[in-house]
Amino acid sequence: MTAINHALTGAIIGLTITNPFLAIPIAFISHYFLDSLPHFGITKDNDKFIRSKGFKIFLSLDISACIILALIIFLINTRSYLIVILCAFIATSPDLVNLKRFILVNKNKVFKPGIIYRFSAFIQWFEKPIGAIVEVIWFIASGLILFELLLK
Ligand SMILES: [Zn+2]
Repeated sequence: MTAINHALTGAIIGLTITNPFLAIPIAFISHYFLDSLPHFGITKDNDKFIRSKGFKIFLSLDISACIILALIIFLINTRSYLIVILCAFIATSPDLVNLKRFILVNKNKVFKPGIIYRFSAFIQWFEKPIGAIVEVIWFIASGLILFELLLK
């Protein structure tokens, strides 16, 4: 799923589960739960897609949205913003395994997938453009829930 959807979900977990020793592992697990849902992605000619300008714009927007989210949480929730932002980050962090591939592919080098990468690829059984519908619904729903919780 997109980073912003992982981050929104992690933030909701950080706001609802007050025990950080519970919230952090649940935020981490939420990543794989979300990735097991049908979501947006292009697996056909994936290397070409990763090298495309469109993907880089998409990635920059996704990362910027996460930074804006962290800022909003910081500004609204003055009591527990640290744990909420940490949970949002933890929920998004497993996607960092894709960073190595992104760098190597863009340098036209060969990427050899490790066990964590293969596991995350296996979890993401449905990655197709049509999965964008699930992403949009998740974004709106989790966004509304998060702001409801933040403004409470
Ligand atoms: Zn992922």
